[in-house]
Order: sequence, then C-alpha cells, then structure tokens
Amino acid sequence: MSNATGCAGAPTTTDPCARCDVLLGLSEVSVESVERAETSMTVTVSTPWHRMGCPDCGVVAPSRGRRRRVLHDVPHGDVRVRLVWRQRMWRCPEAGCPRGTFTEQVPTLVAARGSITVRAVAWAIGQLRREHATIAGLARRLAVSWWALWRAIKPVLERLAGDESRFAGVRSLGVDEHIWHHGDRHVRGPKELTGMVDLTRDEKGRVRARLLDLVPGRSKKAYADWLNERGEAFRAKIAVAALDPFGGYKAAIDDQLADATAVLDAFHVVKLGTAVVDEVRRRVQQDTTGHRGRKGDPLFGIQTILRAGAEHLTDKQWARLTRALEANDAHEEVFVAWQCAQDLRAAYHARDLADGRKLAEHVLNSFHTCPIPEVARLGRTLRRWRDAFLAYFDTGRQNNGPTEAVNGLIELHRRLARGYRNYDNYRLRMLLAAGGLTT
Ligand SMILES: [Zn+2]
Repeated sequence: MSNATGCAGAPTTTDPCARCDVLLGLSEVSVESVERAETSMTVTVSTPWHRMGCPDCGVVAPSRGRRRRVLHDVPHGDVRVRLVWRQRMWRCPEAGCPRGTFTEQVPTLVAARGSITVRAVAWAIGQLRREHATIAGLARRLAVSWWALWRAIKPVLERLAGDESRFAGVRSLGVDEHIWHHGDRHVRGPKELTGMVDLTRDEKGRVRARLLDLVPGRSKKAYADWLNERGEAFRAKIAVAALDPFGGYKAAIDDQLADATAVLDAFHVVKLGTAVVDEVRRRVQQDTTGHRGRKGDPLFGIQTILRAGAEHLTDKQWARLTRALEANDAHEEVFVAWQCAQDLRAAYHARDLADGRKLAEHVLNSFHTCPIPEVARLGRTLRRWRDAFLAYFDTGRQNNGPTEAVNGLIELHRRLARGYRNYDNYRLRMLLAAGGLTT
C-alpha cells in the first residue's frame, strides 16, 4: 500500500507505521483505523469510493451502504490480527434484472465467502512447508477451526497441484512405494501409495529432489497410468528412471519409458543390505538363545551399530560390536552378513564410479554363492536386477541422498498430519511438504 492512497480516515492509534506495515501489499484497500489490545489488533479497512455497474446488466448501481465482515489475518507474533472489512453493497436499479443486491469482491483480500485473508492463507501455506507447522497449530494462531483453515488452503493447493508446468524439466524420475495408513483397506482404500520423485540435477549438478505426485496403489498400473497421463512430451524427456527393486515399476518403465535407462535406487539397495543383516541377527539370536533379543543378550542393542556405515563407528561402538560378535562362534554369520552389507554400501560410496562399479560387480559375482541364505537371496535378487543395479555406475547421476530426503520429509509430515484420513488431502499436504508445489 502506498502512502498516497493509504492511511485515510481517522486513525484511532498513534502508530502510523504499524498501520501501513500491517497491510503491506494490499493496494486495493485502505486502513480506516487500527485498534490495539494486549493480545489482539483490529484493523478496519475499506476500498475508496468507485462507480459500480451491475455485473449482469451493467447499469450503474446505487450504493446500499456497507456491512462489516470480520476476517482473520496473519498474526503478529502472539498478537491476533482481525481485519474488519467495511464491504460495499449495491443494488441494481434496473427493473427486470435478476441481480438485486450485490456485494463488493476484492479477490486479493479474501476469497468470496472466505473468512481468512488471502495473505493469511499464503502465510499458513509457507508455515506448513518451511516450518513444519501443523494445520491445528496454525488454526489456533488464526483463531479459526481446523476445517475453516483447511477449506481456505485446499483450493490453493489444488490449483498448484493441477498446474502441469510443475512437471516441466524432469529428466531423471524416481518411483517409490509409501505406506500411508495402517487402517482397513476396505474403509480407507489401499495402504500403499506410489510416489514419483524428480531427481533431475540442476545446472550446478545438485539434485533438489521434489515429490511430484502420490497415486493410490503399488502396481505397474499405478505408475504406468500416471506416466501415461503426463503425455508424450514429458515421457520423451526422461533419460533416467530410478526405482526400487519391484517388478511392477520396472514393467511400467519398460512400457512407458522405453528410451530411459532404468536404475536401481541406491537408497533402496543399501536398505536391502541392512535388512539382510537384521534378518541374520534375528535368526542367529533365536537359534543361539531360543528367544527374541532381550537385555543382556550379546546381539541385543547392536542393531543401530549394524545399520551404520563402518566408517562412522566410534571406538566405543567398535568395541561393543567386536564384543557382541566374539561372544559366540555362531555370531560369525552376523559378522559376515554385516561385511556383505558394508561391501554393498562401499560400492555406492566409492569416490570414483569405476571403482564403485568394480565393487558392485564383485557383489554380483559373490553374494549368491554365500552359505548364509539371506545373503545368497539378496545376491540372486541383485543378479536379477543386474542391468539396473550396474546402471547406477554408468549413468553417474543417481545418489541415495535425494530419495532419502524426500522420504524423510514425508515421514515427518505424515506424523504431523495425523488428521488426514482422506487421500486427496493427504496427497496435497505431502506435495506441499516435499517440494512438489511451488507458490
Ligand atoms: Zn442489473
């Protein structure tokens, strides 16, 4: 708001700067007055007089006065801000025109029939995304209900989600499964969602992973349909398609992205290795003690150590690990499985991609012959996925950070967004959290 048009009327406060700041960016309305109490501020605004024609017939309409509309605005710290909008009303004088009385609309101030200002909605969306706020917390700060806030936010997110331009420029595409609820699938629909992630590098070579979409189900069809909906121009530009080792996604890629190189996502492969160590540890634990791990058992409490990269272990952790593995000859299997998982990790962590590829080939040539059944099974899985596994080292484009980062954001926001029992709402919330929507 400029000073030329603002600060009109008779102010009831002596702080003109605050009055201007509070409505910064709203050029259509002027401040009539500002009243401050200890925990709230009331700003009365209106538009300058203007000639108004009937929206239906265009005849100049005489004023019917104004009405007060109370809007919730962005809070100032702990101070709640209410805008009282003295909304103009008119009446069409034309006999036979169906319009009758009509009220002023200022779309930059508030949506028609809305009670939360446009900029408060934008503020809330920013808080959700950047500050990991919750709808409930923001609704409290705005002094509105959860539903009132979500009703105001949802159309904005829908508009952003419906904008296909957000899919432009994707060259490297990841796909991944997400479990979004553990409820009854007959009531709430599929527990699994398929998530698409943009893994394209920017000019500086960095991947700023964005969650592009979430669709119900984990199947070839879920992914293939989504790819199909994006259109030929989108699909033709995908050079690298990353995926977790799931045949359905691979089949969708083969169908829809025939020219793209399928690459196993490093994050998922490393996780498979970790899962093998966990399985072997649990089996050996059961075999040697006859029960599941409990306090005092040597293999109990080293799960975290076994999951970490060897290079990150402290001396104390090394000592604990060694003690646990030496406690019983049968623990040798856990040690071997752990070493295998470390080899797999090392392939991805190799500074030089050619070195990494050699390590990966060694994994492919050795794991399936391992006498430990869990390791051998992982070896067979990787051999089935040989091309996609090795493609990582040839494309030189993927790393496990981005997918992991997106998964982390989804996890965090899923905990924050416990209230979302509806897929559409959940999808919008996750797209906002994990970068799919740009405002
Ligand atoms: Zn009219």
